[in-house]
Amino acid sequence: MAAAYEFIDHEYDVVVVGAGGSGLRAALGAAQQGLKVACVTKVFPTRSHTVAAQGGISASLGNMGEDSWQWHMYDTVKGSDWLGDQDAIEYLVRNAPKAVYELEHWGVPFSRTDEGKIYQRAFGGMTRNFGEGPVQRTCAAADRTGHAILHTLYGQSVRREVKFFVEYFALDLIMQDGACTGLTALQLDTGQLHRFRAKMVILATGGYGRAYFSATSAHTCTGDGNAMVLRAGLPLQDMEFVQFHPTGIYGAGCLITEGARGEGGYLTNSEGERFMERYAPTVKDLAPRDMVSRSMTIEIREGRGVGPNKDHIHLHLDHLDPKILHERLPGISESAKIFAGVDVTKQPIPVLPTVHYNMGGIPTNYHGEVLTKVGDNADTVVPGLMAVGEAACVSVHGANRLGSNSLTDLVVFGRAAGLRCGEVVDKASAVPSAPASATDEHLARLDRFRHANGSTPTSKLRIEMQRAMQSDAAVFRTGKTLEEGVAKLRAIHAGGADIKTTDRGLIWNTDLVETMEYDNLIDQALVTIEGALNRTESRGAHAREDYPDRDDVNWMKHTLAWKVPGDAVKIDYRPVHNYTMSDEVSYIEPKARVY
Ligand SMILES: Cc1cc2nc3c(=O)[nH]c(=O)nc-3n(C[C@H](O)[C@H](O)[C@H](O)COP(=O)(O)OP(=O)(O)OC[C@H]3O[C@@H](n4cnc5c(N)ncnc54)[C@H](O)[C@@H]3O)c2cc1C
Repeated sequence: MAAAYEFIDHEYDVVVVGAGGSGLRAALGAAQQGLKVACVTKVFPTRSHTVAAQGGISASLGNMGEDSWQWHMYDTVKGSDWLGDQDAIEYLVRNAPKAVYELEHWGVPFSRTDEGKIYQRAFGGMTRNFGEGPVQRTCAAADRTGHAILHTLYGQSVRREVKFFVEYFALDLIMQDGACTGLTALQLDTGQLHRFRAKMVILATGGYGRAYFSATSAHTCTGDGNAMVLRAGLPLQDMEFVQFHPTGIYGAGCLITEGARGEGGYLTNSEGERFMERYAPTVKDLAPRDMVSRSMTIEIREGRGVGPNKDHIHLHLDHLDPKILHERLPGISESAKIFAGVDVTKQPIPVLPTVHYNMGGIPTNYHGEVLTKVGDNADTVVPGLMAVGEAACVSVHGANRLGSNSLTDLVVFGRAAGLRCGEVVDKASAVPSAPASATDEHLARLDRFRHANGSTPTSKLRIEMQRAMQSDAAVFRTGKTLEEGVAKLRAIHAGGADIKTTDRGLIWNTDLVETMEYDNLIDQALVTIEGALNRTESRGAHAREDYPDRDDVNWMKHTLAWKVPGDAVKIDYRPVHNYTMSDEVSYIEPKARVY
């Protein structure tokens, strides 16, 4: 069979998979080190999901009042519900201002204050003086910040002569003796197969929001890199932590940025009550996302939802000056009109918590190097492999990410990975070679799906998976629903043996690509729900009704999950780094999370 497929070979120092904010920043960073860099991407770079980021990028610039990286660090640790690694969090917040100025100098058109400084808005969980009240820390380019950043980084990468392979679908990692030496990819427009051999592979493939029925993320967010890591026999970390954004447009799922509340918007229930005042008296509507999503769900459950079915909540912007809305939130004003038929200057927007972000992913240290557990050492570096962005779990977001900390994560750790490549990749050494046997399984998988002749179309399995995740791995979870979810997902997974594709060609075979994406999603769905069932506590976005309290004695540890042949998931743990990067700040002790 393998003989039927021919590869075109490529050799690079560094191959980055993904051209979102993190992939481009890493590719650019490696190129700045004088390395020969390729970037492989299944969509055109500026169509990556980063383009949809609205609200902004956090950094303690202090342009709108006093701020400090120590406050940003405290907020991020508290936001993570003490599951974040504090050395990595220190690295993130200390490098954030530098990363934002770098973007500014490269040409990102940030919104400006009257004095001409970068404009910053308030975001959930971002506070002054260790929790005293909201601070304006999120740097914004109106409500199109991701668009501005992605286009700027793409231009800079082209300038640095990163070689782009656009609309190439990465299949699998080439692994030899525990090290990564490259990857295989399918060129979508010609059906040609490619083998990229490299001294370093950087996965920047984004999140897997599409494992759920209703998500703010693009249809391309299928976590392909995460699944490639599972197939390579490596673990994923903290996958049970899935963020629901409080304000997805009801019915459509499109995002209304938290920046809307940052500019003064607020939520109401059917009684017209600003209910967040009850749940988070200090920061109210600007509490972290996990708390706001839970509060909204409780309001709806207790019969105070709005609409004929009392099944959603209202977001008000109608009290704000239309000029401000026009200047700072033009994109979401348009989305509300198109997707909810609402004029935000006059009517509230119907909203509902919607899947938005994956805190879990490929475990890495703060240099971007992928980690696995060997013996007792859970910080063992996997040679030749790095991960950045939403695909990675550094872990700076722990159990719950603060809004606007992801864009910071992309550029800070994208840059860090580039710098690390400069240190560990030897320009003079030969690119590792790979025997044909190293890619046999990649081809067998491709061939199996291409000729799959069962009776269940991919779309049927996909919708069943998305519905099961939506109902059983939701904002609130219990042992019973999770057990049901595990059983359903195992059955859906087994249904893969009877999958049916119809297009047998290789040119623009969307049937095949969607099937491989589904196959990637179902493995991640299983690992997510098994991790959720296994974690018998509530922390951040993981809220167990049968275990309502955070349990630091037994559960202040990262989950590591391996996929073993069949539908089984193996779980082990990694200690949370309870130390900082430097002596300039001390470890922040766990305490109750009150806002
Ligand atoms: C609607 C929305 C708004 C958001 N707003 C904000 C915000 O205001 N502030 C903030 O901090 N965060 C925000 N976030 C979160 C943040 O934008 C994302 O976490 C981040 O952009 C992810 O970037 P990334 O580089 O990891 O991946 P992505 O931007 O998702 O890019 C993934 C890349 O991987 C490539 N890829 C994937 N699979 C393959 C494959 N098999 N082969 C080849 N290439 C592949 C894709 O082509 C793409 O280039 C928002 C998210 C959403 C969905």
